[in-house]
Amino acid sequence: MTQPLPAPHLGEPYLLTPGPLTTSYAVKAAMLRDHGSWDGDFCAMTAEIRKRLVALLGDPAFDCVPMQGSGSFAVEAMLGSFIPRDGRALVLANGAYGQRAAAALRVIGRGVEILDKGDFAPPRGAELAEILAQDPSITHVVAIHCETSSGILNPLPEIARAVAEAGRRLLVDSMSAFGGVPFDTAQIPCDAVVSSANKCIEGVPGFGFVLARRELLERAQGNAHSLALDVHAQWAELERSGQWRYTPPTHAVAAFLEALRAHEAEGGTPARHARYCANRDRLVTGMRGLGFATLLADEWLSPIITTFHAPADPAFEFDGFYDAMKARGFIIYPGKLTKVDSFRLGHIGQMDTHVMARVVAAVADSMGALGVRDCRPAPEAIATGEIA
Ligand SMILES: *Cc1c(COP(=O)(O)O)cnc(C)c1O
Repeated sequence: MTQPLPAPHLGEPYLLTPGPLTTSYAVKAAMLRDHGSWDGDFCAMTAEIRKRLVALLGDPAFDCVPMQGSGSFAVEAMLGSFIPRDGRALVLANGAYGQRAAAALRVIGRGVEILDKGDFAPPRGAELAEILAQDPSITHVVAIHCETSSGILNPLPEIARAVAEAGRRLLVDSMSAFGGVPFDTAQIPCDAVVSSANKCIEGVPGFGFVLARRELLERAQGNAHSLALDVHAQWAELERSGQWRYTPPTHAVAAFLEALRAHEAEGGTPARHARYCANRDRLVTGMRGLGFATLLADEWLSPIITTFHAPADPAFEFDGFYDAMKARGFIIYPGKLTKVDSFRLGHIGQMDTHVMARVVAAVADSMGALGVRDCRPAPEAIATGEIA
């Protein structure tokens, strides 16, 4: 048995959210120092982060470019920097983040098609192959790894295979999965992958990072529609001077380096994946024991976050549930489905199965406080969650 993880500092609530999430004391403590943005010590930290992230991906053909801002800034930077102005992208959408990638492409004026699978159904390799065969104007495919709005883990290997066989390019939003779900570029050949500091690496918000083939970084000059969100220009400056263009989030970078070292000490992505899977399994088993139902069947559940149907019992309402859980030390997350009533519980961050057992106990207790006697969803809600 591994030691239970320490509780959050100063009795803070656990964040059952997919980032910002509960970070360790060491990650928070790393922010208690100011760094000059062009100072050699800070440049060495940036270089170490880039090196560690390339090693995490495990493919030396890639380089790492950190980008200031939240994850969406890095997604938009990746799309604008690697899809040429006359390119045309097909976005595989089954939730809010796919829709956001398509919205970004429209704003920056790239050609965009959407394969819209609704709230959660996964895009499959066969249908993608058919679309690509029929539309030779599509140059790039944009896929979401874990679609955090439902928690589904999309079938990236079959998607990547269809893209490669059709001779197109693949760009991946692995924001909520990278570092917590294995990503093997031999199985998922792609041009670039994007993630951010405050998800599975367990740092704090402030920047994202793009991992891209070095050969494409070299060729991406002049593609970007934006001065600040230009991955090529950021990369060129980092290569030239070791510095970020424009002010870096120095404290978030220091925290992230600490988080990367802890990720390695834990045993890297395989160990983190195992901890997150154990968290999910403990949570889902406990919640089902109370009568709750997951939106998705087991084969589609990610280790990141799980969507549960709201109970049909009329005594249930989300705001009361949120307050009851907060009073018991847990911050929960609303659902993000357009058709059925739901809520989400994340299982990433500094949490283990001991914490998950307490989450289930807090849910049971909160249901009692709300007067909810039956946690089962309406039968018609369940039917909508089935994937054909
Ligand atoms: C978190 C997340 C993003 C980025 O969201 P921000 O709020 O901009 O950090 C993008 N894609 C996915 C799949 C995510 O989970």
